[in-house]
This record gives sequence, C-alpha cells and structure tokens, in this order.
Amino acid sequence: MAERVDWISVVLVILSLPVRIVLALLRLPADLRRVEAARRGVVTCSSGHVTTLMRMARCPVCAAVKPTNVLLCPVCKTSFAAVTCSECGETVFI
Ligand SMILES: [Zn+2]
Ligand SMILES: [Zn+2]
Repeated sequence: MAERVDWISVVLVILSLPVRIVLALLRLPADLRRVEAARRGVVTCSSGHVTTLMRMARCPVCAAVKPTNVLLCPVCKTSFAAVTCSECGETVFI
C-alpha cells in the first residue's frame, strides 16, 4: 500500500513539472527586463523621458544616500522594481 502511495506522489511531481516550467517562463521576461535596464543604465517613462539609473539616490529602506544604481541599494541590498522618472515623476515599473 505504501508503495502505491509513493507512485502517486511521483506521478504528481511529474505532472506538476510543466506547471512549474510555465511559471518560471512567465517570470523570466520581467527578470530579463530588469537585467537589461540595469545593463543599459537608463529607463524610459511613457512620456519618453530618459531617467539614468546610476545617480545619487536615497534608499527608502535604510535612508543611505549613495551614488549607485537605483535598482539596488549597496548598503542594505534591497532591490527595487520601480524607478521614479526624474522629469515628470511617473513611477516606471521595470
Ligand atoms: Zn538601503
Ligand atoms: Zn517622465
């Protein structure tokens, strides 16, 4: 009986694999966009303003002010998924 239960759990794991792969693929574009934005060093808001990611920034978590990539605080290591446009103040999600 115990052996049969083990087989059922194996089958369940195998059946859940495609779901896990699809979920990972769905997350991938957002991760790639963030990596790409960090690599380019700029983000563009919907009005076309270009905001530089590398600048003096104040971390809203630990309040440290550092010349850094605004997507990652070098002090408390908090990463951020949004940047405020320096021209119009729009929140640009990455
Ligand atoms: Zn911080
Ligand atoms: Zn803007």
